[in-house]
Amino acid sequence: MARAAIYPGSFDPLTNGHMAIIQRGLKLFDRLVVAVANNPAKTPLFDVPERQAFIRDAIGNDPRVEVATFGGLLVDYARARGIHTVLRGLRAVSDFEYEFQLANMNKKLLPEFESVFVMTGEDYFFVSARLVREVATFGGDVSAFVPANVLEGLRRKLAKR
Ligand code: ADP
Repeated sequence: MARAAIYPGSFDPLTNGHMAIIQRGLKLFDRLVVAVANNPAKTPLFDVPERQAFIRDAIGNDPRVEVATFGGLLVDYARARGIHTVLRGLRAVSDFEYEFQLANMNKKLLPEFESVFVMTGEDYFFVSARLVREVATFGGDVSAFVPANVLEGLRRKLAKR
């Protein structure tokens, strides 16, 4: 039986930290659905189609990876897709508390739901999409932290501001 997992996140924008989780997830699962959260309460830097395009272009043509989007509750999306396993990355202790709450809440909402965590290596533990946005907005060099297509997208987006 093919094993599949959903890798949900904001991906605003995709970082090398996310890419590392995807590559490592592909060693654990046969198939990954990278699911970009559409959260109307947040004002993102990149809209959902832009965020999806970054992921698709950075991954290239890999039939094991599907790039999707979802709104509402993750458990409802998981149920609708028939995929009850979710892949998440853990950076510092600060991620742990939130992820622990989220994993347990999701399990209460959908008992067959499982969360699988991959721990970040030393290269990317300090990389978050939020920090990348902040550093790039103020003209800092983020080329070590995002794929080349995202770097180009950031340049284009921020030049318009
Ligand atoms: P961010 O926290 O960077 O804004 P997301 O909300 O898109 O990112 O996060 C999606 C998932 O990817 C979460 O499980 C988050 O912990 C994980 N993640 C994000 N950045 C990294 C990283 N540098 N290393 C490992 N996991 C990460």
